[in-house]
Amino acid sequence: MICRVSKEIRWEMAHRLPFHDGVCRSLHGHSYRAVIEVEGETDDKGMVIDFQDIKDAADPLVMALDHSCAVDPTDRDTTEFLKTNGHKIFQFHTYSTAENLAAWILEQLKPSLCRSNITGLSVKIFETCTSAAHVTWSRDA
Ligand SMILES: [Zn+2]
Repeated sequence: MICRVSKEIRWEMAHRLPFHDGVCRSLHGHSYRAVIEVEGETDDKGMVIDFQDIKDAADPLVMALDHSCAVDPTDRDTTEFLKTNGHKIFQFHTYSTAENLAAWILEQLKPSLCRSNITGLSVKIFETCTSAAHVTWSRDA
């Protein structure tokens, strides 16, 4: 039987989008929420994957992100200020949009979650209560 299971993770993080023409250019924070969904064939006990395995895979990511300020390589002034003043930084390889964060989390989770019975993986990040970015991976694609 093919089934989808999901686990939710949460973290608090500051960021800014230096390229943005509106309010997202300013340093601000979000209470992020992400739903990690794993699709696959159930085993002989009726499980796709243990929820604890999803949590174990996601915990290091939450540890890195939580109460940090995400900075991108173009934002040298902000990075310098945060480092100088001892703030926790999450050095991201690109802009910290919800789309980019979702794609990064998905890539980080793939090695440990995409086992032989797994056919799909998705990460949906809610940056606010009403705004989300959703990325998916499928074994068929
Ligand atoms: Zn934002």
